[in-house]
Amino acid sequence: MKETLLEMERYAKEKNVPIIEKDSIAYIMKYIKTHNIKNILEIGSAIGYSAILMAGASPLVKVTTIERDEIRYMECLKNVKKCGLEKEINVVFQDALEVNLTNVSYDLIFIDAAKGQYTKFFEKFKYFLAPGGVIITDNLKFHGYVGKKDLIESKNLRGLIDKIEKYIDFLKNNEEFDTEFIDVGDGISVSKRKNEK
Ligand code: SAM
Repeated sequence: MKETLLEMERYAKEKNVPIIEKDSIAYIMKYIKTHNIKNILEIGSAIGYSAILMAGASPLVKVTTIERDEIRYMECLKNVKKCGLEKEINVVFQDALEVNLTNVSYDLIFIDAAKGQYTKFFEKFKYFLAPGGVIITDNLKFHGYVGKKDLIESKNLRGLIDKIEKYIDFLKNNEEFDTEFIDVGDGISVSKRKNEK
């Protein structure tokens, strides 16, 4: 598994596939262990790097991970198989906003897909959060650009940063969830239902 993870890191670098920063996944793995997390939903598998590490955090963990890009989905399947985690990780090839979930609930929902759609993902998947569960989102600093929109020339990038800033406001002003912002890796948020604290 260690060799496969190293290969995946090399593949991600070569092919420009964004994968989670080491400090962020270390934080999430520790959270999984200390909070006895069992069922995880991940939005945005890419090549399976974070899914494999989360599944490896504890023997009881099961991960469902959703990816809409076919090449990455195939690569993810291959990597899950190489690690012998086919029973622990269910890889779904679909746009997360079109996925139909019924009769499932997750202790941890990890949002790590299209940054411009974070609020939509949160609003859709919060209904599948188990009591006491947590929604974790990655890339809230977006490589240091968040909060520095005015310095960015590219209109597309500015639009993306604007959406991440709006998501941060959405979390800060949320009446249902309390969110802690953790300054680790590229910045993550940890959101829990208010009445469950
Ligand atoms: N979680 C992965 C890791 O750390 O190893 C990295 C995920 S990468 C940052 C984001 C992925 O989300 C991309 O592979 C992209 O194709 C996928 N994605 C973006 N929007 C999506 C959507 N609406 N539904 C499913 N996958 C999506």
